[in-house]
Amino acid sequence: MKINQSCIFCKIISRDAKAEILYEDDLVVAFLDIAPINRGHVLVIPKDHYNSSSALPEEIAGRLLYIGGRFGTACKRALDADGFNLHLADGLSAGQIVPHVHLHVIPRFASDGFHWNWRKLEIDSGEYNEIAVQIKSKLKVNNNK
Ligand code: AMP
Ligand code: ZN
Repeated sequence: MKINQSCIFCKIISRDAKAEILYEDDLVVAFLDIAPINRGHVLVIPKDHYNSSSALPEEIAGRLLYIGGRFGTACKRALDADGFNLHLADGLSAGQIVPHVHLHVIPRFASDGFHWNWRKLEIDSGEYNEIAVQIKSKLKVNNNK
């Protein structure tokens, strides 16, 4: 197993740090976020230490999303949530604080008063096309690089 000795989430997996663990299988662990956006905010993490979601093998990435969805449904049933957000911050600039991949499952309630504040840029069609060409030219699907 890939472990980083100084990583708080690796310590939670090995039970060297406390957490309210809700689920564990061969590839992922899920536990309650210590500072939740809403009650029932869950983190799903791979058991192996990866800094970036882009390095995850397909099987682990798939399990992470699958279990995230199962927890979203569990939160709707258990907490009467109306919906849920799945969120993954990858990199410091994206807001990633803990450098061990984690998928947030955030139960949402119609009146929870929490807003993501997405902004919406206006991009002209020429630039749109250029961006698409640039990204497609760098996309590699089978080797995670
Ligand atoms: P991010 O900003 O995406 O890196 O989110 C890190 C999340 O981990 C935050 O929501 C923290 O509240 C949560 N967190 C940090 N340390 C712990 C811990 N020891 N147990 C549970 N959740 C934690
Ligand atoms: Zn770790």
